[in-house]
Amino acid sequence: MLSIVWLPILFVFIVGLCFGSFYNVVILRGLSGESIVFPGSKCPKCGNPLKWYHNIPLLSYVFLRGKCAYCRTRISIQYSIVEFITAILFIISYLRWGFSLQVLFMLSILSLFLITIVTDLKERVIITSHSYILCGLGLLLSLVATFYPQILDFNINKIYMFCPILSSVSGLIAGAAVMEIMARLGYLVAGKRAFGEGDSYIAAALGAILGIKYILIVLILAGIIQFLVSLPLFLFNTYRQGKKFVAVELVLFLTLAVLLFLYSIKLDKIVYFSGLILLVLMAMHLIRNIISGMKTSNNNTYLPFVPAMNIAAIIIMFIIF
Ligand SMILES: [Zn+2]
Repeated sequence: MLSIVWLPILFVFIVGLCFGSFYNVVILRGLSGESIVFPGSKCPKCGNPLKWYHNIPLLSYVFLRGKCAYCRTRISIQYSIVEFITAILFIISYLRWGFSLQVLFMLSILSLFLITIVTDLKERVIITSHSYILCGLGLLLSLVATFYPQILDFNINKIYMFCPILSSVSGLIAGAAVMEIMARLGYLVAGKRAFGEGDSYIAAALGAILGIKYILIVLILAGIIQFLVSLPLFLFNTYRQGKKFVAVELVLFLTLAVLLFLYSIKLDKIVYFSGLILLVLMAMHLIRNIISGMKTSNNNTYLPFVPAMNIAAIIIMFIIF
């Protein structure tokens, strides 16, 4: 028997699927520059307008067997994935915040995170208007927290270090500043920005949403996520490109680093310090190799940082708000 408690969850799931379907349009048209309201959906290949029953989230993909009803061109699974993840985000948000004003804020922010992640992974661009809306939502949330804290459920003093709006503005500045400094460090190493301005916009938006207290935590967490995802990819690619020595050296380096960290107290001082010196030498050698690799080959090990930042922010949001 379907218990009554499942009904709202089912409802939220279906609403989430519909919103996810709309976000696909936002992603697609954000990239092509078309209006998101008009015209109606059409097949990107043959241009035939889609009927309503071609447009049912998840279900249409299944009964059309992943192909356009007119020209049989394969439809990307990305649309169904976005719909499904949106629905899951809606359910988790509902379970966390219920039907409240706060959930509207959170869902708007989480949805834009998802849209930015997919846009960045797909085309390696951040659409500036998306970052502006995120900044606006963060500032609006802090304004509400300043003047009408009673309509929000989270503990305002725990999140904002000082007056919410000030905390939000300083978070915005700190996020942008940290990323701009990192981007410009690229001039020292490679003679160009380390990454585009989109990352700074997103970091600024995250600062506005989470305030000065949590923006640095999110950036550090994002760095860890980025490292964990990039490492296997980097190892695989260097190994495949015939630079087996770099891959092996990197593994040795990481093993040594972990061992030194775990046994730092128990080890004899001389062993510990010689290990440390070896570690530094290996790091220098590795960095030299990686930089020369970055300069020569067209680098396909590069992963955009925005998805990591947004995923870190999603995790922190569910914890603190
Ligand atoms: Zn078609």
